[in-house]
Amino acid sequence: MCGVFGIFGHEEASHLTYLGLHALQHRGQESGGIVASNGTTLASFRAMGLVADVFNEPVLDGLPGKAAIGHVRYSTAGGSHVRNAQPYQVSFMGGQMAVAHNGNFVNADHMRRELEAQGAIFQSDSDTENVIHLIARSKAAAFEGKVVEALGRLDGAYSMLFLTEKKLVAVRDTIGFRPLVLGRLKNAYVIASETTALNLIEAELLREIEPGEMVVIDEDGLRSSFPFARKPPGRCIFEMVYFARPDSQVFGQSVYQTRKQFGRQLAKEHPVAADVVIAVPDSGVAAAVGFAEASGIPFDVGLIRSHYVGRTFIEPQQSIRHFGVKLKLAPVESTLRDKRVVVIDDSIVRGTTSRKIVKMLKGAGAKEVHLRISSPPTAWPCFYGIDTPSRQELIAASHTVDEIAKYVTADSLAYLSLGGLHAAAKDPEGTTYCSACFSGKYLTPLANG
Ligand code: AMP
Repeated sequence: MCGVFGIFGHEEASHLTYLGLHALQHRGQESGGIVASNGTTLASFRAMGLVADVFNEPVLDGLPGKAAIGHVRYSTAGGSHVRNAQPYQVSFMGGQMAVAHNGNFVNADHMRRELEAQGAIFQSDSDTENVIHLIARSKAAAFEGKVVEALGRLDGAYSMLFLTEKKLVAVRDTIGFRPLVLGRLKNAYVIASETTALNLIEAELLREIEPGEMVVIDEDGLRSSFPFARKPPGRCIFEMVYFARPDSQVFGQSVYQTRKQFGRQLAKEHPVAADVVIAVPDSGVAAAVGFAEASGIPFDVGLIRSHYVGRTFIEPQQSIRHFGVKLKLAPVESTLRDKRVVVIDDSIVRGTTSRKIVKMLKGAGAKEVHLRISSPPTAWPCFYGIDTPSRQELIAASHTVDEIAKYVTADSLAYLSLGGLHAAAKDPEGTTYCSACFSGKYLTPLANG
């Protein structure tokens, strides 16, 4: 769970990167960082916190040059500490380089032990640092050759940006788990996790960077190649369900329209007699609009979200998480009193949020609460860069839907089917998306798992 942004060929590279990261803030709120190149040297700034708090004018002025990469982080591997904040910047025999990674290497632990046995000294505990050591050891002549050699030894998910004094390199793993798009702003090229970052800076979307593609941008322009062995695609369906911003186009599709389609499909699969459809904001809104449309039950606002607390998952301790739901959501009594309410959310992870929400809705006078989830039961952890807890903590790993309904105290509970999810994402054969978090069918070996 991270966001990356890069730009090559613009006078205000670090300022634009700052804006791009701001648009990608939903992908990671723990830390932010930018590394810029002025053509001869790199300068970097990284700190814990939100983009708007990490950067200010003097900091951005200290990052001069026409090229920059940036990163917002939510840790999926390695602890929440500034030493793990990206982009990493190092000097090595080939010069200087910086790296920003969205994804997760599944064989990182094994690779780290191997590198440490050979004398490597790691500065962080993140999986990403392996790439730097492997690049530094590579005998390939050109920087991009070193990158290919390094990534050839790592498995898993990566949408990555590298910056040297003279080049910006973008690479996406062959399975294509995480999104990455290419855009243009005047003479500059822009690369971002999601199109919303391009939109903010008024860059034009050129295309997706393809699974397995490497793009190198320097003073001579842009070169594309496919240096890795092809594999069947496995774009992350959870980007569509929850993670990406609804105003983005991800994997060539509108996230908002896809979520709405999940809601329509859910209404078809699990209809219910009710007076009003409400969403758990913001994650359930698009699906709730689709559910209301397909069911004919009116959509209304039944929960208000405070914009001054982070996503529920950010708080590390169970005790704070419980309290956090109340800090984040408040019921609208006039919508709920004496009504049969359908409430839509995108997923149930541990079940604690849903339980609080159902209680909150009943406390505000709802006569019945029917919970509908716009994805299948989350029963398997993600090893490809989404922060899902271990199997023991996933309520659907060890409980039936009826048991979960009882736990969350809903009058009824139903999930979108796996087939329905893929069909609604325009993937009826289930061949273009990874849905391992719902099916347990992982697309790579799980060396760390
Ligand atoms: P829980 O209380 O653990 O069941 O959390 C469920 C809520 O967390 C839902 O409202 C989801 O929108 C949200 N959610 C699902 N997956 C994630 C994730 N990987 N990170 C943060 N929030 C999530």
